[in-house]
Amino acid sequence: MARKILVLGETKENELRNVSFEAIAAAHKAAEGGEVVGVLFGEGAASHAEAMIQHGADRVIVSEMDELKQYTTDAYMQAMEQVCEEEQAEGLVIGHTSSGKDLAPRLSRKLSSGLITDCVEIEGEGTNAQYIRPVYSGKAFEKIKMEDGFLFITIRPNNIPALEADSSRSGNIDTKTFTISNLRTIIKEVVKKSTGGIDLAEANIIVAGGRGVKSAEGFKPLEELAGVLGAAIGASRGACDADYCDYALQIGQTGKVVTPDLYIAAGISGAIQHLAGMSNSKVIVAINKDPEAPIFEVADYGIVGDLFDVIPALTEEFKKV
Ligand code: FAD
Repeated sequence: MARKILVLGETKENELRNVSFEAIAAAHKAAEGGEVVGVLFGEGAASHAEAMIQHGADRVIVSEMDELKQYTTDAYMQAMEQVCEEEQAEGLVIGHTSSGKDLAPRLSRKLSSGLITDCVEIEGEGTNAQYIRPVYSGKAFEKIKMEDGFLFITIRPNNIPALEADSSRSGNIDTKTFTISNLRTIIKEVVKKSTGGIDLAEANIIVAGGRGVKSAEGFKPLEELAGVLGAAIGASRGACDADYCDYALQIGQTGKVVTPDLYIAAGISGAIQHLAGMSNSKVIVAINKDPEAPIFEVADYGIVGDLFDVIPALTEEFKKV
């Protein structure tokens, strides 16, 4: 049965995040031939609408109201509630990002809908689709089916492949304003913390360091390798707790969840809480001087050795490619 499904796109530093395109692909599975409508808020939203259409949205609703310039729970909730009501849509897909994780449970409560969070795969289509999500810190997966009611899902970035961009696609771009009032939060200034430029959640390659790097200075060889590979830098909580790097880099159960194509773990033991954030990476390379380190149990390639020898050697080799 064809259904109308909304997709809330997300921008970061004036770039449309890839998860927006992945959400469109997910929405098409749920829509079963029905309409997929993109929704974009914030500064420059209109300039990204075309990209959503090229990636599969049939039309896009945009709003550049001042209240929606930056994500705030109250403003986005009010605007999305109005979009859902006006569009009489049968579902909504958003990214399982920091703002998505904040918005989804509150909005689903407002819409009196169910909510399937953190989907990494979708099997089947329409009302028969099964949404697969990790449970128990990634040790198992559950399949959820939502046969009726409003379908609301969040998708983990970097898991559901986006559709190929097609520049011949066209669709309407509708500019809207919403009634937004009684805001409890107003963002006056955003102070950016530098985390190396590449967004960890969407990085294709991550070079992560643990307590084995021994100091903030010890991250330097990892940064050089990351520079050559075009990778983002990540860390274990051990490294963050020891003040070798910022907590924004922490990967794991209480940090970021990542699924890059290549994850290089250097000087990380592989505690279960760390694995919860990275064990779904496509290829894992572990570098550890302890051959018994648990990280080798999840690694596709293991290098037993001192990271301060191995990482510079890898950097030199990759420079030749
Ligand atoms: P260690 O366990 O100390 O491992 C360091 C490793 O480096 C060792 O295996 C050692 O052999 C190796 N090493 C040392 N020197 C070298 C060298 N020169 N070359 C190569 N290898 C070397 N942790 C997370 O990472 N993320 C989380 O989100 C997280 N959440 C948690 C939540 C809770 C509730 C709790 C209780 C813990 C959490 N932890 C988390 C902490 C987790 O349990 C571990 O303590 C932490 O992951 C250990 O970090 P590490 O592997 O860097 O350090």
